[in-house]
Amino acid sequence: MKTDVVIIGGGLAGLYVALQIKNKQVVVLAKAGYDTTNTYLAQGGIAAEMSTDQDSLDKHILDTLKAGAWHNSAKATAQLVSEAKENIINLIDFGVNFDKDNSGNINRTLEGGHSERRILHAGGDATGKVIMDALRVKISTKENVTVIPHSMATDLVMDGDTCVGVQFLDKEEKLNTIFAGATVIATGGVGGVYNHTTNPKWASGDGIALMKRANGKVKDMEFIQFHPTAFFDSFDQNQAFLISEAVRGEGAYLVNSNSQRFMSKYDDRLELAPRDKVSQSIIKEMYNTWSDCVFLDARHLGREKLISRFPTIYSKLSERGYDMVTDLIPIIPVQHYSIGGIKTNLKGETSINNVFANGECSSTGVHGANRLASNSLLECVVFGNKIAEKIDNSETMIKEIDVPKQDWSNLNLTYKPTIKEIQEIMEKYVGVVRKPNELQMAKSIIETHLDNLSKYTNYTKNYYRVLNTATTALEIVEGAIKRDESIGCHYIIGD
Ligand SMILES: Cc1cc2nc3c(=O)[nH]c(=O)nc-3n(C[C@H](O)[C@H](O)[C@H](O)COP(=O)(O)OP(=O)(O)OC[C@H]3O[C@@H](n4cnc5c(N)ncnc54)[C@H](O)[C@@H]3O)c2cc1C
Repeated sequence: MKTDVVIIGGGLAGLYVALQIKNKQVVVLAKAGYDTTNTYLAQGGIAAEMSTDQDSLDKHILDTLKAGAWHNSAKATAQLVSEAKENIINLIDFGVNFDKDNSGNINRTLEGGHSERRILHAGGDATGKVIMDALRVKISTKENVTVIPHSMATDLVMDGDTCVGVQFLDKEEKLNTIFAGATVIATGGVGGVYNHTTNPKWASGDGIALMKRANGKVKDMEFIQFHPTAFFDSFDQNQAFLISEAVRGEGAYLVNSNSQRFMSKYDDRLELAPRDKVSQSIIKEMYNTWSDCVFLDARHLGREKLISRFPTIYSKLSERGYDMVTDLIPIIPVQHYSIGGIKTNLKGETSINNVFANGECSSTGVHGANRLASNSLLECVVFGNKIAEKIDNSETMIKEIDVPKQDWSNLNLTYKPTIKEIQEIMEKYVGVVRKPNELQMAKSIIETHLDNLSKYTNYTKNYYRVLNTATTALEIVEGAIKRDESIGCHYIIGD
């Protein structure tokens, strides 16, 4: 099989690049369905300053840098903010219908760390679903794009230090090779590395692992964002239900198990402090009150507003037996977003020739040490546009080489317990609060699993899922060990 461009990933980061490429043949590989993406789950919205006034743009840049603890790339952040409007217009042209007021103006909401109401949303609190529904229709009309669903990329095909294509396991778990002049990695998040996450459980950091196996560079993997307000009771289901920050943006607040508000003890911005600060404050409050969770209080917002503004959250909580109008909602921080990832420049190019990275798996530098809420969907489109431009304006040379198939047939039935153990130690030792000696313990356990996995290799999706989970987990732990200061989401105590 061959094509000009192969894109690994069918979320916003992958599909947007595919839609923006005009002059090349594109194949999109996606290991799961459209609705099993982080994009589909996005609730709050997409941060975008629609005014071209420099003061407004500067405020969005400043909010992003402050939230990121000034660890951000200033150039990448400026690109993110200044190119927001043109890419939002593209999304609207693709059929994304953002919520509007009665006069037809796009509504904008507030979230933690934002000094202005600049977050566009759709379907109330179903922004990601509305985006994915529109893009999936649009992509089906593009004659130069073929989507191959249920296909999992397993390795980059390397010719020296240049990537010439991708190996993947198809729906029937048959190993295939696709040769391509350009490869775009857009594999999303790493939540499956943790026991509890807001991501779908398949999110095993595959792009990170693909790059590592090809000796590519990844960066800042220790910065894992824990979302402060995941619903507490859903914990037995692994994939935790998220209660968007926009609920706090509209006025809900946090109380401890004694029904007392507590954020004023920790940050002047109260419930709308950036996520790293809110998550760390919640954990401290839980320690101080010996409780397993804190609570979100949205009762004063009233039924009409809660149902019209947050229809998905309201109904999902009702299904779980909670009425937002009368009940305090138990919440806890859980793994949510991978800030680091595959190192890229401003055009999405990586350290490997012919390989680009976009979306959550990339590290463009815009998020610093802590992502500002709703900047990630924006990053997918702004940097996706740059990648498409670069590919469209370059010559793509397809080179087919012999790919020796290794004789991998070792069956190992311990994948499930292995993944479970990694998820548990990541949750316990590499969470919101980290201790150097526990990080070392986590590293040694993960290395033992990786060693075993190298002895029991086989070409199955389960094997690659556990291999990628272990590889990504090790990158996170090693990054955390190397960074000996507390900054952004990386908070260390003790020896
Ligand atoms: C519950 C939730 C709410 C969120 N709310 C917001 C919000 O309001 N605003 C905001 O800006 N951000 C939000 N985020 C973050 C944001 O949704 C994601 O960062 C963004 O959607 C990532 O897009 P992506 O395309 O990079 O990844 P995804 O949308 O996750 O897509 C990844 C794709 O890669 C595919 N894939 C993975 N590995 C392989 C492989 N080996 N082979 C082939 N395909 C592969 C997957 O099948 C999938 O198609 C939220 C995230 C979650 C989980």
